[in-house]
Amino acid sequence: MRSWHTPIEHLKGVGPQRTRALATAGVRTFRDLLWYLPRRYLDRSTIVPIRELQPQQGGVTVLGQVRAQALVEGLRGRSRFEVLLDDGTGQLVCVWFQGLSWISKQFQTGQWVAFHGVPQRYGARLQLVHPDYDKLEGDSDPPLRTGAIIPLYPGSQALERVNLNSVGIRRLLRRLLEEPLPPLPDPLPEWIRTRYGLMPLQEALITVHIPPSWALLEEAQRRLKFDELFTLQLLLAWSRYGGGAQPQRGPVFERAGPRFRAFYERLPFVLTEGQKQAIRDIYRDVRRGGLMNRLLQGDVGSGKTIVAIAAMLLALDSGYQAALMAPTEILAEQHYSVLQEHIGHIDVQIGLLTGSLGRAERARLLEAISTGAIQILVGTHALIQEDVRFHRLGLVVIDEQHRFGVLQRAALRRKGSCPHLLVMTATPIPRSLALTLYGDLDVSIIRELPRGRKPVSTHLVSETQREALYGFLEGELARGRQAYIVYPLVEESEALDLRNAQAGYAQIRARFPHRRVGLLHGRMPAGEKEAVMRAFKAGELDILVATTVIEVGIDAPNATVIVIEHAERFGLAQLHQLRGRVGRGSERAHCFLVASSPRSPEAEARLRVLLETTDGFRLAERDLELRGPGDFFGTRQTGLPELRMANLLTDQAILQQAREAALTLIERDPSLAEPAHRELAELLRTRYGLPLELARIG
Ligand code: ADP
Ligand code: MG
Repeated sequence: MRSWHTPIEHLKGVGPQRTRALATAGVRTFRDLLWYLPRRYLDRSTIVPIRELQPQQGGVTVLGQVRAQALVEGLRGRSRFEVLLDDGTGQLVCVWFQGLSWISKQFQTGQWVAFHGVPQRYGARLQLVHPDYDKLEGDSDPPLRTGAIIPLYPGSQALERVNLNSVGIRRLLRRLLEEPLPPLPDPLPEWIRTRYGLMPLQEALITVHIPPSWALLEEAQRRLKFDELFTLQLLLAWSRYGGGAQPQRGPVFERAGPRFRAFYERLPFVLTEGQKQAIRDIYRDVRRGGLMNRLLQGDVGSGKTIVAIAAMLLALDSGYQAALMAPTEILAEQHYSVLQEHIGHIDVQIGLLTGSLGRAERARLLEAISTGAIQILVGTHALIQEDVRFHRLGLVVIDEQHRFGVLQRAALRRKGSCPHLLVMTATPIPRSLALTLYGDLDVSIIRELPRGRKPVSTHLVSETQREALYGFLEGELARGRQAYIVYPLVEESEALDLRNAQAGYAQIRARFPHRRVGLLHGRMPAGEKEAVMRAFKAGELDILVATTVIEVGIDAPNATVIVIEHAERFGLAQLHQLRGRVGRGSERAHCFLVASSPRSPEAEARLRVLLETTDGFRLAERDLELRGPGDFFGTRQTGLPELRMANLLTDQAILQQAREAALTLIERDPSLAEPAHRELAELLRTRYGLPLELARIG
């Protein structure tokens, strides 16, 4: 019997080679093929006649026949491959400079092909450089028939090699739909489908592959988008309620006691309104016995740490422990020393748990945590590891929340006790997205920076201005200021990046022989890193050459200059974080973006945004426009499902419905135990690892 789980090689027309190629695209079963969704659609209304083409910013689709093709020898031995396309209104050249041996074998003269690209002027003619293409020849749909909607599939060389371009995929799909298959299970409960007027899943999937009309295609897409957003909202709702319908009860922190007051009275500065309000919000959450789930948003340098300290002391004053989690060891170490600085005079035992502790030390620390001898524990992700047992954990603070996932938050919740949760982020989330990403959290926002801060002035410089830049740097150092010089470090090119940073370090030492220069990168032993950081903060180093390890949270108010090398390689949020390392004191601070040119239009746009504004919220919105919500979301990092269909900006209406449906469902059937919800429970369990079994017992 054939089922949706039947391996794809049992489909007629799929041999061993195609089986392998399809596997590279994640298609292993009949079901996978049905879920291999078109990436876009072609219809006459979206095709531009060649005669009407203009040089322009955005991409266009042209559809025509290949008239001629040739490998052309260019200047300096640089060859290219050209295709001449004719659509009856005019002719257009498509050109490739790379992958010539591959691309030159792709087309046949007379073939119908749709090309997608950005028209650029080259001399007197217009051309498309390295366009995407879809071969339409051989399809049973004549490509130009009015009204036909042609789905186009994501391609790859592996698929092309076995003739599985869009035409080939469509052919396989038709064959699949001729198979006598049982109905595809629909995880969405009937009552939700009815309430929101949603197409059954199987019908929606068939419709996106073979759309009879635009109206039906839209209905089908709406159903698939709803599913994505519904799953997302369900995960959020589930993590908020920990698998129970009602908000759980948390520990009660009744009053601000002696520890809180001792800290508050000795603060070296006046709190900003935003900080005060955040502390009030927290206090309101924790004194009633409800469970706090609060997100604290505030730009870099807005002083979130102080708020966290206040919250932790409220816990301590009521006899509870508190934990503070940071995304990196350096940051955890820094938090630890900031805590010492601010509450060292108070009777509080603080522990630091990092991966670099020795066995015996670790055992001693864990013991002290489990007996309650240590009241505040600072550390990295290691804090949610299984062997950490608290005596009476009342509050967990997570710094730089965007690095932690929803599911990790849920994991914390499952650690026996049910602590209050405060998560802090310097990545401002545009309003439109806050609900989605943090739908399970209440939000406090610190809008202003502490008084007296001047915005960092930002400059874009090229290699030729390096000497002038160093001259400026020399002047700042002469005034007793300090500087960071930052190099990118990404995983894919880690070894090379590290060498760059080390070479930069040598170069700076040679250029500033009479200055004290330090080097900091993630590969150094923890003790050494800490020593370098401490030296820099204490003013024993003038210049710190570092990789992106300093990105998050490091605080040295006397540093007034940051030079970011290869700035074109950083993302916008990261650049903003880095820039936030300076301007933390009252001195005017400077950020220099050293970027090589020519640069990609995307890199150029990012750098321009940074010059335009220092407001984190505006920046986040621009970032969202530039990158699109999929990327912004960084779902791989957050552990949330990837959105393939839904767009968080344009599908807000569907999002609202999905959210409402998810909340209603969790209220009705918190552990998804009803038979009607079995498919859904199965999906959440297998795909996202939700321990629904546990929830059912508890
Ligand atoms: P972030 O929100 O980026 O985590 P921090 O908590 O590290 O910011 O604070 C940045 C700096 O501002 C620290 O040196 C901190 O001591 C200082 N700071 C915090 N609040 C105030 C305030 N109200 N007035 C002046 N300085 C403050
Ligand atoms: Mg911080």
